[in-house]
Amino acid sequence: EFFAKETPNFNLLKKDNETIRLCFNENPFGTSPKALEAMQNSLRFSSLYDFKFADILSEKLAEINQTKKENLLVSAGSSFLLELITKYVSINKGHFIIPDPSFTIFEPIAEFLGMSKSVIPLNDKKKIDLAKMKSSIQKDTKLIYICNPNNPTGDLLSRAEIENFIKSIPDNIIVLMDEAYIEFTTQKSLSDLVDVYKNLIVTRTFSKLYGFAGARFGYAIGHPKMIENLKKLQSWSGAEISVVTMAGAIAAMDDQEFITKVLDNNKKVKDFTISEFNIRGIKTIPSSANFVYFSLENYKSDYFKKLKEAKILGGKTYEEKGKWTRISLGTIEEMRKYFDVIS
Ligand code: PLP
Repeated sequence: EFFAKETPNFNLLKKDNETIRLCFNENPFGTSPKALEAMQNSLRFSSLYDFKFADILSEKLAEINQTKKENLLVSAGSSFLLELITKYVSINKGHFIIPDPSFTIFEPIAEFLGMSKSVIPLNDKKKIDLAKMKSSIQKDTKLIYICNPNNPTGDLLSRAEIENFIKSIPDNIIVLMDEAYIEFTTQKSLSDLVDVYKNLIVTRTFSKLYGFAGARFGYAIGHPKMIENLKKLQSWSGAEISVVTMAGAIAAMDDQEFITKVLDNNKKVKDFTISEFNIRGIKTIPSSANFVYFSLENYKSDYFKKLKEAKILGGKTYEEKGKWTRISLGTIEEMRKYFDVIS
């Protein structure tokens, strides 16, 4: 009720029977129930500065990632880490390279801090163009961002492609691998390579698989020296994460039932979605994530008007004069409604 009165765009926030949110790649089943229970039980610790949860959390993360605690940096969502890494590489200014379109929320920060950039369009297969990114390297290039799978396309580069790329570029350039959607693939995270390639840093999030987009939790995996340097930009590392979220994150990792449910649904709904697009002659890009990128080129009606009338929140447009757009994968019922609406 408070939100209904006080927040003008409450409709965007609420998950009810009316509005279907297929816009932010959120978890259609909400938050892991085990995490929610732990969060409710930990509310009473809200008055305490926490050290214990942070420790347990780091140990658990280290265990599931088969890495050391020294390789980890936790934060209130991975966006925060993209921001921190951007600030770190911007210290002496320089140049950065990003694919387009991609999840480049840090781009304005880097520019504001005085960095120059090269923006590299996807290749004709809608894949991140590693060769062009490499040939755009300048003397003062500090950062190359790769999102894998990429948002908004869902395209996945193989480990070999990325590893070859890292090997082939100067090792003073930080390669930021954003793996927000890697859990939706069967491909292993690159996190096991951070001790081999000291310039590699991987970011992960709990927002998608575990349903923590509102609770906020993410982490980075890097060489201990890289993590140590990033921590120099923080007065108290991890202070932005609430005890409640930490307790939830610890529990979420054990909620195998929820994880299986989410991944099974994602696969089933993705197959359904691609086949419904195919039936309608709509071109899609193979997706390794929890959303699908498709072209409105052959769509004869007003797509966005139809979504609005049906209270379905869809994505924005990208590339080729806005010909492409993205739809997040919801539950099967939500996707049936979506296809009824756009038909
Ligand atoms: N990276 C990518 C590729 C994303 O798509 C998103 C959110 O949609 C994020 C990072 C941000 O996630 P977080 O909620 O962890 O800040």
